[in-house]
Amino acid sequence: MNKIPYGKQWINEDDIIAVMQGLRSDFITTGPKVEEFEKAICDYIGCFHSTVVNSGTSALDIAVHALELPIGSEIITTPFSFVSTTNAILYNNHIPVFVDIEKETRNIDVDKITDKITSSTEAIIYTDYAGHPCDIKQLQEISEDNDLFLIEDACHAFGAEYDNKKIGNFDDMTVFSFHPLKHITTGEGGAVVTNNALFDKKLKCLRQIGIQKKKDSYLYDVKYLSGNYKLTDFQCALGLSQLKRADFFLKLRENRAWLYNHILRKTSFELPKIKSGIRHSWHMYTVLTNDRDEFYKYMKENKINVQVHYIPIYQFSYYKDRFNFNSEDYPVTEEVFSKIITLPLFPEMKLDDIEHVCNIIENWE
Ligand SMILES: *Cc1c(COP(=O)(O)O)cnc(C)c1O
Repeated sequence: MNKIPYGKQWINEDDIIAVMQGLRSDFITTGPKVEEFEKAICDYIGCFHSTVVNSGTSALDIAVHALELPIGSEIITTPFSFVSTTNAILYNNHIPVFVDIEKETRNIDVDKITDKITSSTEAIIYTDYAGHPCDIKQLQEISEDNDLFLIEDACHAFGAEYDNKKIGNFDDMTVFSFHPLKHITTGEGGAVVTNNALFDKKLKCLRQIGIQKKKDSYLYDVKYLSGNYKLTDFQCALGLSQLKRADFFLKLRENRAWLYNHILRKTSFELPKIKSGIRHSWHMYTVLTNDRDEFYKYMKENKINVQVHYIPIYQFSYYKDRFNFNSEDYPVTEEVFSKIITLPLFPEMKLDDIEHVCNIIENWE
């Protein structure tokens, strides 16, 4: 049996044709496909504005930049995410303030946020871990009571729902990634969506070196110091083609997650739990086990490419060298990190392969 990856893109003939047409058109970048893709994202999510960029990491960066906070502002966030979530705070010369997570969803523990708010706190960036939306209502209340901006790192949550609305409608800005392992892909890519026209205007400018053009004139202004984060036209053509199958991909992820739940409930593994009132988007299927490192080795020996998401961000040397985070302040993060493992899950994964993975797990027990 071939190695089973933990995630994988699904490119079909329509996608390939869309990219070829994109390459044959007059514009291979900054052309009509960019706006078309942005409009299609808005239609899918039900929001007003979208800015596509060359990665989820870039999207987080310009979202934080667009807040235009005073240097050294504190931004509350989760240590249990991909490092880009907090790097965006550092690029913009702000200070990350980590709050511990909840064990069951691995999302930021909203009950522990208020204790960390100081007079320098300006925003909260939260991640919907594995595609399970956070307690957004409580986050909105905290944000209103304390006058804080909200940015949602929804790189795992494209298509997920909270309160019967798609993720992308709840914050000042919401960020997605179109990396091949995510729900839809443009190779590399990402987007910031917002219902605030002012943020949208800034994001469009921040995407292109901080340049604001004047219509029908050679004149342009540089409003911000920013990088070149543009997504090419042929990537947007791929995104448009992928987006047509977003709901299909999501259903397949759901089916596969339910099959895992069904087979593995007889094992000693702690399976993912879902709160009411949400739709999980199943970017990942993660379980907790007491012998994680042994289990990781065993699965690799059996050609199943499991992964660990995530190493707590405060453990990385870049963070250790600059801050004094103490792992004892994050007991739940530490416990979850010591036990968690990500099983393979992607739309094109065969049901037989899920059963095979489960068989191997059952043999280990
Ligand atoms: C994938 C991911 C990112 C970064 O996205 P890229 O497109 O790879 O730059 C950021 N945050 C989270 C939670 C992610 O999973």
